[in-house]
Amino acid sequence: MSEVSACVGLGANLGDTRAVLAAAYCSLQQLPSTRHHRCSPWFISAPVDSSGPDYLNAVACFDTSLSPHALLEALQGIERSHGRERPYRNAPRTLDLDLLLYGDQQIESATLTVPHPRMHERAFVLLPLATLLPGAVIPGRGPVSTLMSSVAGQSVWPAD
Ligand code: ADP
Ligand code: MG
Repeated sequence: MSEVSACVGLGANLGDTRAVLAAAYCSLQQLPSTRHHRCSPWFISAPVDSSGPDYLNAVACFDTSLSPHALLEALQGIERSHGRERPYRNAPRTLDLDLLLYGDQQIESATLTVPHPRMHERAFVLLPLATLLPGAVIPGRGPVSTLMSSVAGQSVWPAD
């Protein structure tokens, strides 16, 4: 089974966000058919389309032979195990896991769009992603380094 490099965005803005993000990254590392995990430093960001307290964000990348839809299901399972509810669109959330990149594939299905449709306009995704993959190119959108200059006005800062 061939492997691709996948990147996942982690975000939390309810409860003990540091504990939630650390536990979520542990859960990612335990997913079957994944290896070579690495996680960006953590960043704090003001809510963009959401509400409530500031977010804690990170990006994790790993190699996987899981299919993109199997990976999405696994991510949703981890969200559920952290008590994620979806009372309304863009509600504050204990944990949000988004599949950002799946190799260089562009995927459009009823349940999954890859690259994640809003990642290129979000500093809280691009900054952590660039710490892991400074040369990354988002298929259909362009180099992360170029995209970062257009989100420079957004409030995102290192967590420590
Ligand atoms: P968002 O993260 O955009 O604020 P949610 O986490 O509530 O919203 O996700 C809503 C739906 O988005 C999920 O049910 C999922 O099927 C769909 N979705 C489409 N593409 C992706 C992706 N790349 N990563 C995660 N979810 C996705
Ligand atoms: Mg999501």
